[in-house]
Amino acid sequence: MALHLPFDATYLSLPDRFYTRQPATPVSAPSLIAFNHELADRLGLDSGSMTIEEAAEIFSGNAVPETATPFAQVYAGHQFGGFSSQLGDGRALHLGELATFAGRVDVQLKGSGRTPYSRGGDGRAWVGPVIREYLMSCAMDALDIPTTRALAAVTTGDPVLREQGPLPGAVLTRVAASHIRVGTFQYFAARSDKDALQQLTDYTIRRHYPNAKGPAGLLSAVMERQASLIAKWMSVGFIHGVMNTDNVQIAGETIDYGPCAFMDTYHPDTVFSSIDHQGRYAYSNQAPVTHWNLAQFATSLVVIMPDQDAAIEEFTAIINRFPELYQKAWLKAFAPKIGLQPNETASDLVQDLLGVMANAKLDFTNTFAALDETAKTSPEWHVKWRAAGPEDTLWQRTNPHVIPRTHKIEEAIQAATSGDYAPFHQMLKAVSAPFEPLSAFMLPPTDFEKVHQTFCGT
Ligand code: AMP
Ligand code: MG
Repeated sequence: MALHLPFDATYLSLPDRFYTRQPATPVSAPSLIAFNHELADRLGLDSGSMTIEEAAEIFSGNAVPETATPFAQVYAGHQFGGFSSQLGDGRALHLGELATFAGRVDVQLKGSGRTPYSRGGDGRAWVGPVIREYLMSCAMDALDIPTTRALAAVTTGDPVLREQGPLPGAVLTRVAASHIRVGTFQYFAARSDKDALQQLTDYTIRRHYPNAKGPAGLLSAVMERQASLIAKWMSVGFIHGVMNTDNVQIAGETIDYGPCAFMDTYHPDTVFSSIDHQGRYAYSNQAPVTHWNLAQFATSLVVIMPDQDAAIEEFTAIINRFPELYQKAWLKAFAPKIGLQPNETASDLVQDLLGVMANAKLDFTNTFAALDETAKTSPEWHVKWRAAGPEDTLWQRTNPHVIPRTHKIEEAIQAATSGDYAPFHQMLKAVSAPFEPLSAFMLPPTDFEKVHQTFCGT
């Protein structure tokens, strides 16, 4: 029996300057690497009877379901601070949307071939970034952090040419609350296309924030989600690496797993991305950068306001609340990590602990997972912490043992590149149960294993 995918696409009710309809580009020999049955169940899909051959055909773009209406979305964005007025799905194609019990989602193929927004790119992905995104997004979901999801990964049988030479091509099926970004608003704002902006704003409110009142309400709601999201990233030592405005999703999910990484040794200035020379997206800069990104969102929304001066004043007042909102979210995410309620004592103790960790070059994840070890590294902190009366079961169940460590991801990618997917599947299992200690995935890298830089996922 064929897998039934009851796609529709409300996004196509927007004017056609929002997207380009585009058929999928066939691949030579699709082969399924992974399929997320748990996610398929949550989406209400009956995937049990689907064969792996059928899955490979569908999730490579070779067999497009009858209900699908493939299209690529246009957007713009500030990339490392510089504005690009024309970006878009250059290597991705929406198959459509699914209305699920948990809300409407987009289903998108990534690595599926060229589109009008590909610029110089080939529209393809190789197996490395596909595996990284699969592992990272599964880990984030298991850590209860909002994220786009991976439904399937398929190799294409076609080589993809990158700096390293020809590499095995692959396609990831990404599921997201939607792919509307700050950059989507910026695209129309940059063109003073008020009509499109108004329609996008109305659509976004209807789809994601039905209680928000107008652009100001939307701005506040998006800001709250972003504050909470970034605080959660910080609480697990996650560094996104490429927080351009086109990678800020309006629904508040983590999107675009390019040069991202979880920190091993804690240091606030940690940067991984090979192209982030100035440390713009360093660990400790993620909240200030989000504040800046939200200001770009506000700037786009001003364009549709009848009284622009009044709107600038109102939106500035909203945006100025970000640091306070973020601080609250930060404490809410970190206090339970040391077994305390979010209060001033907890805040001071977390700050002190992070200072200790930076000085002693401690592993971020393992320090929180075994807080009593601080009795050895910093007896003074340990005494103060114990005096605050932490609830042991709280920090023990809050702190993960397993995160997708960069050197393990690299190992899995290396193996996959030569056709061995066993390390990927082992790791997938481990990161899907992050609160269970599994020693093979808990050790920080040795000096030899340490990965110092990560690269954009193209
Ligand atoms: P990203 O760095 O993944 O956020 O992508 C930035 C922009 O580059 C987006 O417009 C992408 O669609 C485009 N892009 C990235 N990789 C490729 C590729 N291999 N082919 C075509 N476009 C790409
Ligand atoms: Mg992107």
